[in-house]
Order: sequence, then structure tokens, then C-alpha cells
Amino acid sequence: MTFENALETNNNQALKTFDKVDLHNHGLLSCTRKWATDGFVGKDGKKMPFDSVKTIDEFLDYFKKQEKPSRKYLYDHNYFLLYGNLQNCVDTGIKVVSPSIPYRTFKELFISENDADTTIWFLQQIENQFPQLKILWDIGIPREKYDKQKHGEFITSLIQSKFFSGIDLYGAENGNPNELFVDFFKQSNDIGMSTKVHAGEQLGADYVEKCINDFNPKQIQHGYRIIEDERVVELARQKGIVFNVCPTSSVRLGVVKSMKDHPIKKMYESGLKITIGTDDLLFFESDINNEYLELYKNGVLSRKELNQIRESGLQFATQKIKKTKLTPRSFKRFDEIQEEEGVRFYFKD
Ligand SMILES: [Zn+2]
Repeated sequence: MTFENALETNNNQALKTFDKVDLHNHGLLSCTRKWATDGFVGKDGKKMPFDSVKTIDEFLDYFKKQEKPSRKYLYDHNYFLLYGNLQNCVDTGIKVVSPSIPYRTFKELFISENDADTTIWFLQQIENQFPQLKILWDIGIPREKYDKQKHGEFITSLIQSKFFSGIDLYGAENGNPNELFVDFFKQSNDIGMSTKVHAGEQLGADYVEKCINDFNPKQIQHGYRIIEDERVVELARQKGIVFNVCPTSSVRLGVVKSMKDHPIKKMYESGLKITIGTDDLLFFESDINNEYLELYKNGVLSRKELNQIRESGLQFATQKIKKTKLTPRSFKRFDEIQEEEGVRFYFKD
């Protein structure tokens, strides 16, 4: 059975056995709905009412209501969500994943102000459970919530820790202006990190062009509206920018009219480098294999083209994105946290 045969026969089970990447993965929103429904326990000890939570806003509201949770709770719930995400990657044949985690989440986990070690320790606890995955952690920066005064130094400390593979700017494209974030991209590019910006999902090709010029990003998340201007397509092609496209997400959010009309076809035909990703699996409920199947079934791309995208993505993610190797360090004082604060790290029993 080849990957192309598996697509042709609509065989999701067989697709799982082929290696893939997911470079567009929001770390805390990418476990399956089943994982969250079965296992999530709120601060009040009750299960999350997932059946009544339908949108991202409702989901986030739920967390807001868990006001001032203890650090133990934060460790537990972030661990649980991330664990479910990475388990799903293993289950669906993803070999390289790039989970983006909002810096504010890290801030909550920190023991003391600007102490990047706590976050690194925390992520390593999870990473150690998944030796079969190459995990490229991204520092997520949501545009609209960023406050230079309060967060600038903190994000810089995360970048300079050299633990993270990249940064990922997301949120409303007309939120805070690009100028606020230019320096983070410069710092990250200077030390060879992967740099990503969400663009061309909400705003047009002129905004994609502005992001390319302002940030010099190595990757663009979504980027669909670039096809509105051949000049910008040429710019992205020349720079070798990789576009991490999430088909179901863009259809579900109404960014794209229907799967059949998905701009990924035109992007591919224009010679842009593309990978396929899942965005927020918890909401869109379409795993990586289903993304490939949908594109095939709707006649957007041929099985040969889809296989080519799969293979070039693997090549890109294994060869071009640096996974920082930290010298082994002792996290003794953090290992004691579990003991001291009763952190249990959620495991399903
Ligand atoms: Zn995204």
C-alpha cells in the first residue's frame, strides 16, 4: 500500500502509517475532542461541559472562569492538553510537530519573574514522554494581547533561552501593528530560529507583502490571499517561504467558500512551498489524515501532488528547522515541585 493508494481508497487507517509533519499546530487546542471530553477536569473538580462548548470564545471563557487557578492546576491542565495533542500526533503518523504555545501560558508557569527555566523544565517533562516525535516548540505571540511594557522583556528571555525552535505571531491581522513585533523576528532570525507569522487569512495580499517585508519570516501560517497578487507570490517564491495551510480550518471559519475552491490549489500551482497542518484540532475535529483525504476527495489536488507535499514537508522539517540541543542540565529544584506542591501531571487512569 502506498500513500497514494491509501488516498484513492479513502483509507484513513492506512494513511496513519505514513510519516507526516504538522507545522501549524496550536499546542493547547490540538488534542482530540474525545480526549478533552473524557479527561478534562476543571478547577472545581468537575468535568468540562464540552457538549455545550462549541466555539473558541466559549472555550476560552470557560478558562477565564477558572480564575486565579493554582500553579498546580495550571501545570496539570496544560500538561493534559499538550499530552493529548502529542498523543494524537503519534496516533496519526506525524513525525515532526511544531506546537505553538502562547507566551502568557509560560508566564503563568514560571516560578519567578522571567525565569525561562521553569518553562523549559515543564516542556521537557512532556517531551520525554514522546521520544518518537521531533517536537519543534514555538513561542506563540497573540497580536492583540501583547503589551510591550509588560511582556517585551519576558518574550526576549524566552527567545534567548535557545530552547525554542521558533516564534509564531497570530491573532487578528488588524490587531496590534507589525512594528511592535519586528524586533522579536529580528532577534529570532539572527540566531537561526524558525519564524512564522499568521497572515493572508483575514487580510489581503498587500498585508502578506507587508509581513514579508517587516518580518522576513521563514514560514507563513495560512497565507491564502497571497494568490490575489502575482507580484507577492513571486516575492514569497524568491524568498523560499513555506506556507502551512489548514484546509478544514479555513472552510469552517468561512475564510474559504468551500473545500473545492480552496486556494491551496492555486498556491501549489504557483510554485509556492506548502505543508498541510491542522490548526486547532479540538475545534475543527479534522486530523492530519483527514485533511489530506478532504483535499483529495474534493478534487483540489491529485494524490501525486498530495504525496509530493507530504514528502517535501518532511524534508523541510527534518533538514531546515533547527532543533536546539541543550546541554543536559539539572532541573533538580523543579523536580521537587511535584513533591512540594502536589503536582501530579495528569495521566488518564
Ligand atoms: Zn493558526
